[in-house]
Amino acid sequence: MYLFAGLKEQLETYLDKEQVKQIQDAYVVARDAHAGQLRSSGDPYITHPVAVARILSEYHFDPQTIMAALLHDVIEDCDVSKEELAEKFGDQVADLVEGVSKLTQIKFRTRAEAQAENFRKMMMAMVQDIRVILIKLADRLHNMRTLGSLKPEKRRRIANETLEIYAPIALRLGMYGIRGELEDLGFAARYPMRYRVLKESVRKARGNRKEIINTIIDNIQQRLEADVLHARVVGREKDLFSIYRKMKEKRTSLTEVMDVYAFRVICDTEDTCYRILGFLHSLYIPIPGRFKDYIAIPKANGYQSLHTTLKGPHGLHIEVQIRTDAMDQMAENGVAAHWLYKSSNDTNPAELKAREWMKSLMELQSRAGDSMEFIENVKIDLFPDEVFVFTPNGSIIVLPHGATPVDFAYAIHTDVGNSCIACKINRQIMPLSTPLINGSTVEIITAPGAKPNPSWLSFVITGKARANIRHFLKNLRLDEALSLGERLLDQALGEKSLDDFDAELKQQIATKTKHKNFEEVLTEIGLGRLAAIVIAHRLMPKEETAVEEDTNEKKPLAIRGTEGLLVSYAKCCHPIPYEPIVAFVSAGRGIIIHRADCKNVAKHQTDEHKYMPVQWEEGIQGEFSIELRVVVFNDRGVLAKVTSVIAEAEANIVNIDIDQQDGATNALNFTMTVRDRVHLANIIRRVRQLKFVNKISRSK
Ligand code: MN
Repeated sequence: MYLFAGLKEQLETYLDKEQVKQIQDAYVVARDAHAGQLRSSGDPYITHPVAVARILSEYHFDPQTIMAALLHDVIEDCDVSKEELAEKFGDQVADLVEGVSKLTQIKFRTRAEAQAENFRKMMMAMVQDIRVILIKLADRLHNMRTLGSLKPEKRRRIANETLEIYAPIALRLGMYGIRGELEDLGFAARYPMRYRVLKESVRKARGNRKEIINTIIDNIQQRLEADVLHARVVGREKDLFSIYRKMKEKRTSLTEVMDVYAFRVICDTEDTCYRILGFLHSLYIPIPGRFKDYIAIPKANGYQSLHTTLKGPHGLHIEVQIRTDAMDQMAENGVAAHWLYKSSNDTNPAELKAREWMKSLMELQSRAGDSMEFIENVKIDLFPDEVFVFTPNGSIIVLPHGATPVDFAYAIHTDVGNSCIACKINRQIMPLSTPLINGSTVEIITAPGAKPNPSWLSFVITGKARANIRHFLKNLRLDEALSLGERLLDQALGEKSLDDFDAELKQQIATKTKHKNFEEVLTEIGLGRLAAIVIAHRLMPKEETAVEEDTNEKKPLAIRGTEGLLVSYAKCCHPIPYEPIVAFVSAGRGIIIHRADCKNVAKHQTDEHKYMPVQWEEGIQGEFSIELRVVVFNDRGVLAKVTSVIAEAEANIVNIDIDQQDGATNALNFTMTVRDRVHLANIIRRVRQLKFVNKISRSK
């Protein structure tokens, strides 16, 4: 309990007894879960979550956040399940802990600057609840404070991540305080030499300036007190990292950066701010063009202050910021200010607080009419409509919400999209239609010669994927139509083959039928807009060959199962290999294969312009869809047993519908794919052997 004492004391300042008791329970669970674990400093592990909770308690966060902070590493490190947490501490705490664990799992892997921006966005997008980010920031802050005991390589990596990812997130949430500390610690760990040298130089420079600074503070203070204005005047020291950044970006020397003396005056009201400004301008001469009124026109991130630069004693430049307490707190704490200044027993949910914060920014902005860019960015980050996923090498791809692996493939490259056949999401093979989730790693499996599938159009959502698939299919359709047309005509020619006729005759026929060339004629046949038999007649005038008489000996067209879009299988009778079949020629849509005994075609098969004889090619490979209806007596686990028998027989079940019949039986309607008739017979035989099966039949 010793470790908990300090935190408890802090909690008691703003929470009631019952709430503190709950938090104490969470502490005990965390302590026991981490028992025996040590940090690399040698301290017991539990010191870390307690410190994280402590940081958050200073912002007066709600009990759930504090409990989640205490428990934030138990899912990741101690095999405690989310369900256990939910049972003991409620869903909110469990969700928060899980959210933090998920963020911990994703690692910032590439160096590219642009990726850092996307990575930040992804982290924000992954959280449903802004408190997850705030816990993560506190976690990172404590890890940075205790970085010293890690190996140099790891220290550098974590420091880099802090500077690239976490400090900017803190800035984005308006939390200047945490951001400043993260940057300072990150700078020290990332560039230890530069940090030491700069720190020493700044220390010396500050030493020399101390006297001047105190004189200026005294002067200002006296001037204000003379007019009975209550205000605090503080000397403002720039963070080392911001000095470093300024030197680097503006290529200035340390002396130039340090040559500016900066102060902050904090008072009670907006009105007082302007009065103080007036007095300061009468004390020292203001430098023209340096006055900025960020109270009337706040900065885009909600920052408010008056800025002015004065010419001080010995011609020194004095920068002054004037602001109220509230403006100061907002500038320091950002979104967290909404926890800090609400009463302890308000139950305002986190998202509402985040929205409130956004709203306050918007209100400031609407007064200012300034750039909305920052707010737009924050809004997108907090309430995203995009998903962020990784490629296997760690690059981040940004896609609209609901995007699928096919969208992802086209986002990488058109060729990848066109030749993709499967995908792995987090190393597991998943359907290409799976909606992607933030933070997933997606790997696209391609095969040379693979083609886009028309069914993709039903689930892709990016314009790029859609346009590419459409474009490809249009060309593909014409290619397929051409080769099908060739085969259809060949078949209509009976004994003869297309090659027996010379090009001149073919061109004549094309011209007569108003086509550019014979290929176009073949394409039209393939598309079903022109009957093969008609062209066959033109190629072979009656006197030469009696086509009519040969009709019976026409070799039926062999169906290979690989014809593509222009050969399809009728939904009414679901033909499968080696059953007798017939083809219906449908204008513009190619041919549709029916079972020869299908009711829908039985009466009309003699019309040779619409129907043609076909047969299955020997050794055809593929999966063909059928429907099977199984009537079973009600019994426990019936569905599972039937399904597993079907699966054991190597059929893929695509869909199952259940018809409630009377109390005694149910009808299970399976849609599945099979290889051929023998395969189907085998499945039916196995299912029939089950003792609770009453009837089994193939639909229609
Ligand atoms: Mn941690």
